[in-house]
Amino acid sequence: MDRVDVKCLSRDALTRWMVDELGDDAGRAVRVFKRLWQDGVTDFAQMDGVARATRERLAERAVLPTLEADVVLDSADGTRKFLWKLHDGYRIESVLIPDGHRLTLCMSSQVGCAMACHFCVTGDMGLKRHLTASEIADQALQVQRTLPEGVRITNLVFMGMGEPLHNLKNLIPALEILLDDHGLNFSHRKVTVSTVGLVPKMAELAAALPVNLAISVNATTEEQRLQIMPITRKHSLAELMDAARAFPLPPGKRITFEYVMFAGFNDTLDDAARLFELLRGIPAKVNLIPYNENEHYRDLKCPDAATVKAFQHYFVSRGLGCSVRTTRGLDISAACGQLGRARMGGVLAAQL
Ligand code: SAH
Repeated sequence: MDRVDVKCLSRDALTRWMVDELGDDAGRAVRVFKRLWQDGVTDFAQMDGVARATRERLAERAVLPTLEADVVLDSADGTRKFLWKLHDGYRIESVLIPDGHRLTLCMSSQVGCAMACHFCVTGDMGLKRHLTASEIADQALQVQRTLPEGVRITNLVFMGMGEPLHNLKNLIPALEILLDDHGLNFSHRKVTVSTVGLVPKMAELAAALPVNLAISVNATTEEQRLQIMPITRKHSLAELMDAARAFPLPPGKRITFEYVMFAGFNDTLDDAARLFELLRGIPAKVNLIPYNENEHYRDLKCPDAATVKAFQHYFVSRGLGCSVRTTRGLDISAACGQLGRARMGGVLAAQL
């Protein structure tokens, strides 16, 4: 019989499993959950306060895997990249980004990605496999455990490797663990899931959990988006914007629209005007990401700073929030769209 990975289970699921399968009680299950996610135990034997018989039953029926950092790289700008080695040899990455009082962890949801966006290094790899809920949530726990006393990750963004909504089945229990006050206890206001726009999955996410949504829009017409994001063939830009308009948002919350800017492709003020029109009626903010050039897509270039500024000004002057994402961690290949195949000290990320 396959053993259960207890770190894939939300508190409710763990309780159900321990009650039904092990004949334990709910209180004990909560204690186990806390030892896992609050104390970060790596062995059932370390579960202080849990009865010996329960620990033994768990050790027989379950596993308790821990992500292992293969390489940790520090950027000159303070960004830190963790390269995790998974049990089957694949590697994934998380990026820790200090920014003023914020400490954001950019997390991965898949090994590789199936979305094949024509500018993204992860997309170029194709999808190797989905991450388990355990592998997703453990990125936050293991990074947190490397930080000094009193320093806490403040924000989580699913903008690392993978399309999180393509792995919603595992993303949801991982988010439940991350948000649980007996788990990692992140506020739903500080957790953002970024998507290429898997329209039906957006509604499913909203129905399950109240996290922030970011949409990588990246283009302003169907033709333009088709050229860089194949998902547009399945879900048109119009369909995506309708889904964004229908997305249930609590008062005061806005959807973030990410817009990667490419020189001479989508960076004119006509593009800005079209994007502004697309966003009409949606509580939105725009996050411009000047393209991080990479050797995979040599024909794509980053616009100059003045072009980005003018684009930003278009929105700000019309009262729409618009920020520019500063490039971080370029020297360690940790910037947006660089995760995946970069060579690091002889290691080829995500591949053996
Ligand atoms: N699959 C999800 C999350 C991962 S990508 C999504 O697409 O939203 C996170 C962001 O990085 C996306 O907005 C994506 O468009 C952007 N991105 C990808 N490659 C990039 C690159 N080379 N330069 C700048 N941004 C990039």
